[in-house]
Order: sequence, then C-alpha cells, then structure tokens
Amino acid sequence: MFIRNIDTHINKLHGVGSVASAKLAHLEINKIKDLLTYYPKDWEDRSIINPLNNYQNGKVCNIVKIIGRDWIGYGRNKTLKLYIEDNTAQGILLCFNRPWLEKQIITGKTYRIWGKFYYKYGELQSGSFEIEDANIQNTFSKILPIYPLTAGLSQAMLRRFVSRALNQYSSDIMDELPDEIIKKYNLMPKNKAIKEIHFPSTAEELEKARRTLVFEELFYLQILVGKRKINRPQRIKKNTKEDYSKLQNNLLKRLPFTLTEGQFNAVKEINLDLNSNISMARLLQGDVGSGKTLVSFLTALKIVENGNQAAIMAPTELLARQHSDNAAKLLEPLGINVAFLTGNIKTAGRKELLKNLKNGGIDIVIGTHALFSKDVEYKKLALVIIDEQHRFGVTQRSLIMSKGDNPHLLMMSATPIPRTLALTVFGDMDVSIIPDMPPGRKPVKTHLAKESSEKKVYDFVGAELEKGRQAYFVYPLIEEGDNSNDLKDAVSMTERLSKEVFPQYKTAIIHSKLTEEKKQQTMEDFRMNRIQILAATSVVEVGVDVPNAACMVVEHAERFGLSALHQLRGRVGRGTDQSYCFLVYSDDLTEDGKARLKVMLENNDGFVIAEEDLKLRGPGQITGTEQSGYLLLGISNPFRDFEQLEAARKDAFAILENDPALLLPGHRIIAKVLEEAPPFGNIVL
Ligand code: ADP
Ligand code: MG
Repeated sequence: MFIRNIDTHINKLHGVGSVASAKLAHLEINKIKDLLTYYPKDWEDRSIINPLNNYQNGKVCNIVKIIGRDWIGYGRNKTLKLYIEDNTAQGILLCFNRPWLEKQIITGKTYRIWGKFYYKYGELQSGSFEIEDANIQNTFSKILPIYPLTAGLSQAMLRRFVSRALNQYSSDIMDELPDEIIKKYNLMPKNKAIKEIHFPSTAEELEKARRTLVFEELFYLQILVGKRKINRPQRIKKNTKEDYSKLQNNLLKRLPFTLTEGQFNAVKEINLDLNSNISMARLLQGDVGSGKTLVSFLTALKIVENGNQAAIMAPTELLARQHSDNAAKLLEPLGINVAFLTGNIKTAGRKELLKNLKNGGIDIVIGTHALFSKDVEYKKLALVIIDEQHRFGVTQRSLIMSKGDNPHLLMMSATPIPRTLALTVFGDMDVSIIPDMPPGRKPVKTHLAKESSEKKVYDFVGAELEKGRQAYFVYPLIEEGDNSNDLKDAVSMTERLSKEVFPQYKTAIIHSKLTEEKKQQTMEDFRMNRIQILAATSVVEVGVDVPNAACMVVEHAERFGLSALHQLRGRVGRGTDQSYCFLVYSDDLTEDGKARLKVMLENNDGFVIAEEDLKLRGPGQITGTEQSGYLLLGISNPFRDFEQLEAARKDAFAILENDPALLLPGHRIIAKVLEEAPPFGNIVL
C-alpha cells in the first residue's frame, strides 16, 4: 500500500535510465517506494518441470536445446524464429520485438525456457516466453513474481529492478503498524513482508507476507473511516421536511416522463439532509442508466433556490459536456444560470466565467477537475456533486470541497457495492440506492462469441444498422502496440470496419488521446446519427448516453474487468427498443476466463457483477485509472479479506476511542503515518 520514506527517485536505481523510468512512470512508479509497493498480480512456481509435450496443462518449464533458426516477415515485422527441442517434443519460439535474442541465443546450446505454448500452422509455438542460459542464471526452483506490465517493460526487467531496490533499500523500510497489532496477529515486520511478497522463499512465507500487508492496509483504511466518524457531528433530522421544493416541482413538470420510485425516494432523502442543520454526506448508488443525473439536477435546484451555488464534477470532459448540455436544456428555462468549465475553456471566456462564479452570476457550474483549479473562486458554493466518484481520489475530493464553507456533498456511482460493505468502508456516509430503472427499458441481450466467429457478430450488427440503429465497437488498445499479442486495436479496426465490414455506414473513432474538441465533435456526430459506428476504447465506459445505439461489441472482452464490461453494456439499452451486447473473446481463452465472462450472461445486476469482479481479481492489482471499482486498494480486497477488514475495524476503532489524538507512545506511529503519507490516494473516504 504505502511506504512512508524512501522518496528517492527511481532513476537513482542502477540500470534505470530515462527510457526505463518513463516506462515505469506509465505504471505510476516514480519513486523507489512506488516500485517496492508495485505488488505482483500473481506468482509462478518454477520448481516444477513441465515438458513441451505437456503444453496443454500449463506453461512449459524445462531445459531445451536450440536446434535451428530462421527469420519470418519483413521490415519492421521481421521476427526471429528459434527451433527448439526437449526430451519430449520439438517446438518453436517466436521472438517478437526481441531482435537482440539473435546474438544472445546460440544454436546448439541449452537454455531454460518458461512460456505458454499453442499449436498453430502445424507447429508447437510460443510468442511470449522467458529464456535464460541453462548454465548461468537460475530462476528455476523459485517462486517468481508476475507483475502487471506496460509496453516496453518485461517481467525480467521489473524483477531485476525490484530485486535491486530490495537489496539497496529494504533496510530503510520501517514498520507502519503499532507493535501491539503486529504481535497480536503474528504479522511480519514490514521490510520482510515487502521482500517476501516480491520474492517469496516459500508459499507459507508468501501467505504471511500477504496477510501482513493486507492487514496494514485495512487497518489504515479503518483508522481513516474512524477518524471521520469521530469528527462528524450527529445529524439532527427532527423537524425537517422532505417535500419537493418549488424549483424541483417546476422541473418535474417540464419532464416528458415521471420519476421512478427510486429517483423519487432518493430526492426525498436528499431533501431531508439539505433541510437539516448539518452538511449532507451522501453516496447515491444506482445502476448504469438508472437516472442519477436527474437526481443530481434536482439536488442542485434546491441549493440554488436558497441563493447558493452548486458544482457538478465529472471525470471526463465528454461526460461533463453531456451533463452541461442536459442542464442547459432542462434548467436554463427555469431561469437558472448554468456554466461549463474545463481545462480547455479558452482564456477570454474563462475570465468572464470565473468572474461570474465569484460574483454569483452563475448558479450551477458543471465541469471536470478544472472546477477546483487554484484561480477558481465561488461566491457561495453550498453543494458539491461528484459523478462517477470512484474516478476521483480523496485529495481531489477535498480540493473541491475546500472551495466552499463545509458544503453538502453528493457522490454518485454506478459501481455498486453491497450495503454492509459500503457501511464498513464508507463508515458513516449515508447511502441512497436507486434500485429500479426507468420504465420501458428492455434488458440488453448479451452474447458471448469467439473471435473466429466474428463474422456472425458483424452480420448481426449489420442487420441492426440496416434498421437505422447505431453500434459501438470497443477495443482494449488505441493503436497497435509494440507487444505481440495479436490484440485488435481501435485505430486499425476503424479502418477495417469502415473500409471492409461496413463501407456503407459512417465509422468514427474515439479514445483518450484525441483532443477534447475532436472527442466532443465525434460524440455529437454520433448522438445526431451522422455517424453510425463508433470504434472506441473504454472512454465510452463512463456515462455516455445515446439512446439509438443498439449494439455494443467488446472485442477481447476477457481483457476488461467485469465492472467495466457492465458499464460498457450500460451504454446500450437506453432507448425502448431491444439492444444487444456481444462479448468477443480470443479462441484460446481458458475455461476460467470463459466462466468469468459467463457472469455477464447470467447477471444484469451491477451489485452481483461488482461482487464477482472483486472476488475474481488477483491480489495486488493496483487501480489503474481506466479501471472502475472503487474498492480497489493496493493489495487487500475487502470482499475476500472481509474477516480481516472487520478485525482491523475493531482494533482501529478501539484505538481511536481510547486515544483519539493518538498521543500514547504506541500510537504515535499511526499519527506519523497519517501525517507523512496519507494513504489511499485512490479511495474516497
Ligand atoms: P446514470 O444513472 O447511468 O447516470 P442517466 O442519468 O445518464 O443514468 O440516465 C439515463 C437516461 O435515462 C437519460 O437519457 C435520462 O434522460 C433518462 N431518464 C432518467 N430518468 C428517467 C425516468 N424517470 N424515466 C425515463 N427516462 C429517464
Ligand atoms: Mg451517469
């Protein structure tokens, strides 16, 4: 989770130059301590030999002899092909993007290899493998870490870096838990735990290391929850009203539909909070498409009615823009001044806007992180609404909150967590749930399809396009990476979809690297049906609303988290016609992988999917910005580690109760940690 000290920059590590440190920065590894807490997502036990002829039962792990070599492909794609044999079979190694292996690997010599093999073109081949001289290094008979990677960084490199960092710095790692806790649960000292989590000496030590780091993380989580609980005064709800206000009723009258019961009740609960004498702190959960935006507008109206300002913050410009367009349509006719503020607003307009925010000329401002930029001042910010809250960190939340004087807070999320857990993790936050959907929605029909039968999927989508509907195609990559895994990417598939598959329709692309203007224009074109097919990365995951879109095709679906797939699926089925979601997976997907995707076939309920998703994630999967699910901590998983969570909660709360200021000698360490390394940049507390 965190290490308090060792702020040394990663480039001080031997062998890490500017190229490697840039790559590491992609993984949010900038300092030595980030590297040491970049936990493996899995471990490989290489003490077990697995010969070539047993390739179907797991990775091959054996000594092989190089018996020949060849080159395939041309130019940039030229690839070295090595012929190998062990005592059971022959095979080949395809050295994609590893031209240096040509000199390093010598025909006739023996090497240790480790890799996944498959049968293709009549050959037993592997495109991703590790190889080392059989006589020199020895990573065999060890338990080795498997790290989540990024382009240009190999397992071997990361292992080398981590191993060096451990050698050089592990004696600097300090314990962060009070001694009484370490003793009580028989945990490891932190420096040992960090070492064992990366390079375990035995499976038992690995387990103990994990238990130690998990407990530490959950303990601090509960300290934060407990502190907030102590600090927040109890709300007095007596003599307050839950009735809809005048402006709220005016908006309802203008809507072409009525609120769902869930929306109606959520607003009632919110009104109660807003009428009480203490600031609201409420989490609004509702599945994708349940209509949370409208609830947020109704909330803002009540604030404006009292002469105050509201800010609605969304994680992407696309989403902020969509909210602000909606707000302009729905709220401006009621005499409300709505403004849109992002980092991209040009200087002149921005100046004017900031002036109006400061003098109260703007009632509701909608935007991105720009809402809490240094130069932004509010006249009286009384309500902060955070959409897709799991995309924001604690710091960002407190920055926007600090723009007002203890403003009300409404956080919204479509990544649901079970109520009991929500209470444990969010401590004393109030929770509203919208359990229902606007009427007339047909559940999206979901199909799994193998990559090799993509034609059937394309035909099906073609038929829907023919009917005048639109489609999304989602890919795991923006463009062809320098990794060799044959993944389809949005850029090349846009070409293919528009030229080969659906030449009669207009296809466009959207992803995070385009300029905001371009993204906006494309979204607008898609919404207006000037574009029928939108090829995308997971940027469309969040909040985008185009009711005429009938098909969501996710290629390499196994590459996405279930919560992300659920969010993607929620992009269709927003109108009254039947919609479809196709999850296309690689032909060689394992049974486990298929079982995971089947969760999507069998469930429409985001709560269930979120739970499955968290259960299935490996330990140490650090939250990437693209990943959703706001319970992703560093190494713990509150679902799997629920018992530890409860134990940690008891201890943390007991400590805070007896020694709220953390003054006792045994508790000073907690105060120090909170001061020096406020944990959980990525979780909202
Ligand atoms: P989410 O909860 O995922 O943020 P949105 O707020 O984007 O959902 O709402 C999805 C769509 O449902 C929007 O087009 C919105 O106008 C529509 N909608 C919201 N509430 C209702 C309702 N009560 N009846 C019908 N449609 C509604
Ligand atoms: Mg939304």
